[in-house]
Amino acid sequence: MTNSNLIQSAQALLKTSQDLVRLGLNRGTSGNASVRTYNEVGEAGFLITPSGIAVEDMAASDMVWMDFSGKVQGRKTPSSEWRFHLDLLAHQPQLNAVIHTHSMFATTLSTFQKDIPAFHYMIALAGGDSVRCAPYALFGSQQLSDYAIVAMQDRYACLLANHGLIGVGKSLEHALNITLEVETLCEQYVRALQVGEPHILSSQQMLEVQEKFKNYGSWAEKTLD
Ligand code: 13P
Ligand code: ZN
Repeated sequence: MTNSNLIQSAQALLKTSQDLVRLGLNRGTSGNASVRTYNEVGEAGFLITPSGIAVEDMAASDMVWMDFSGKVQGRKTPSSEWRFHLDLLAHQPQLNAVIHTHSMFATTLSTFQKDIPAFHYMIALAGGDSVRCAPYALFGSQQLSDYAIVAMQDRYACLLANHGLIGVGKSLEHALNITLEVETLCEQYVRALQVGEPHILSSQQMLEVQEKFKNYGSWAEKTLD
């Protein structure tokens, strides 16, 4: 990597990966992240974390650049989940970052293979009145990516059955915020289910929240177009 944009993006991607560990969202080699960026000759693509390397052992120069045809540029092998990173960024031009975690509570809920309903108004942060759960498929498979694309329709996050969570955003910071908020919601939902059957907000109540979010704090202007 020679151009300064690419180096800055690689450093930002490393910092986000470190933040994921610091915030307890990922451990070891679990999870991965990507950010849209041009390569040094101006070709459109994205940087993605390397496969099978713990964040503690990762350097910015280990990040791998890929284009949308799957062409790879870098010293390391790209994350085994490059297919859903590529497909999400290719399908949604307004998105610039993708984060995948095996965070504790999202992963726990993903084993039930069910969507998370609007048990809390903050569910609207993920773009609608539920966080969908994509069906199970082998990690790194095109099938998993195909399922994720459907579950992510009009959403900033989805669960991957018996696996974990995907959060996306207009920037790495946005995707990290989404991921952290959804993991928090998953913890609250797991705890609520231990007490009983939580009351679910209506579609109308959730539409009101989505409307209000358009003018709320740092989330303003970040709703899906
Ligand atoms: P990678 O190390 O290949 O990114 O895989 C981690 C993971 O979470 C697979 O789903
Ligand atoms: Zn995974």
